[in-house]
Amino acid sequence: MTLSRGALLGAAALLATPSLSRAQGQARLLVVGGGFGGASAAAFARRRYPDLAVTLVEPKTRFVTCPYGNLVIGGVRQMGDITHGYDGLRARGVRVVHDWATGIDAAAKRVRLGGGETLAYDRLILSPGIALRWGAIEGYDEAASERLPHAWVPGDGAQTLLLRRQLEEMPDGGVVGLAIPGNPFRCPPGPYERISMIAAYLKRHKPRSKILALDAKDAFSKQGLFQDGWNALYPGMIEWVPANRDGRVTRVDAAERVLETEFGTRHKVDVANVIPPQSAARIAIEAGLTDQSGWAPVNPVTLESRVAPGIHVVGDANIPGPMPKSGYIANSTAKQAVASAVASLRGEAPPQALYYNTCYSHVGEDYGISIVGIFRPNAEGTAIVEVPNSGGVSPRGDLPEQRRLEATYADSWYESITKDMFA
Ligand SMILES: Cc1cc2nc3c(=O)[nH]c(=O)nc-3n(C[C@H](O)[C@H](O)[C@H](O)COP(=O)(O)OP(=O)(O)OC[C@H]3O[C@@H](n4cnc5c(N)ncnc54)[C@H](O)[C@@H]3O)c2cc1C
Repeated sequence: MTLSRGALLGAAALLATPSLSRAQGQARLLVVGGGFGGASAAAFARRRYPDLAVTLVEPKTRFVTCPYGNLVIGGVRQMGDITHGYDGLRARGVRVVHDWATGIDAAAKRVRLGGGETLAYDRLILSPGIALRWGAIEGYDEAASERLPHAWVPGDGAQTLLLRRQLEEMPDGGVVGLAIPGNPFRCPPGPYERISMIAAYLKRHKPRSKILALDAKDAFSKQGLFQDGWNALYPGMIEWVPANRDGRVTRVDAAERVLETEFGTRHKVDVANVIPPQSAARIAIEAGLTDQSGWAPVNPVTLESRVAPGIHVVGDANIPGPMPKSGYIANSTAKQAVASAVASLRGEAPPQALYYNTCYSHVGEDYGISIVGIFRPNAEGTAIVEVPNSGGVSPRGDLPEQRRLEATYADSWYESITKDMFA
């Protein structure tokens, strides 16, 4: 499977069609959010449709990826390895504006920016990612996250580095507690890769320490593979507590570093990583694009909002059906959204949609596992479904060479997708 296969299929038919111009000039594609969905959309739009005027709005001048952030926490990658700039997109002809989008007027097709500028568009791609639901766990707000880091929305990297520093400062023999949310949330295997990378660090530097993973679920992505790896690499170090054994954290005491579960068990830990429940980012909610679930319903073929025509919501902010909220899906859906937006501007039908996902996870620095899946709209175009027999996970068993190889495939995936995004 290659990175741009889905996009190539979808976009191929559009290449031979007339240039994209409006009476007043070039057709304008506005992209809000310069992460996995947004940067992918902007880069792809300029590559496939050079006639399109593409503007990207993103407040940060440097983007820190969530993927490989767990390896920074584990001390096997540095922050510089996961930080990317926007010069490549500029060189490709994208106008990059570093500002917040503060409001969307879907009827007038305009986006207001924090700095006062208003940008008009013909089609909008919105990929603002997630918001953490402060207060969904009692006592866990932004202030508490300065003591009990989430490290789930990297921002400028401060949260990731805070968790790393707390691990470094913890004495050998300490307990690292994690609070893991119920579905849906960003990156289903992410918390378990995090447990693994924390364990890798502790094994090397603080081998008497323990990890207590309190989960709001009873099962998780690639569970058998993760647990096999934990038994092989970190025997006795990790205790995973599912919801049905009182694993759901409902309250925290930040000052005391206590994680309290549904049935009142209080776990005092030395370092706490609290990953709270999530929703679509604020701009999507404020623009009225989300439903009562907190996520944005979209057309499965075009990724266009069910609420506001002309706005395609991609990445973690939308309701993806059975697809995971992953960087790869954000990349794949972004391309389909751009191709659909262009088709609409040309008065044509959208291309056929196929969405690709491969999620690698590191269980150890040289121990990788993966899950893959291909998805498409159902025949009625009303929902996204997994293509039968398309999915799978790495086989279980004693396969050390395969685990080593998968860790290198993961490295190649990261290199390739970040090149694709940041041109
Ligand atoms: C620990 C961890 C590990 C992960 N590992 C993997 C992995 O190995 N593979 C994988 O495929 N996925 C992985 N993911 C998931 C992946 O990071 C997300 O699915 C992906 O980032 C979603 O892309 P997005 O565009 O929706 O959001 P983001 O990539 O977060 O980008 C959103 C951008 O929008 C900007 N923004 C927000 N609001 C506004 C606004 N109002 N105006 C302008 N800009 C705005 C933000 O600044 C941000 O840059 C991981 C996630 C975590 C937490």
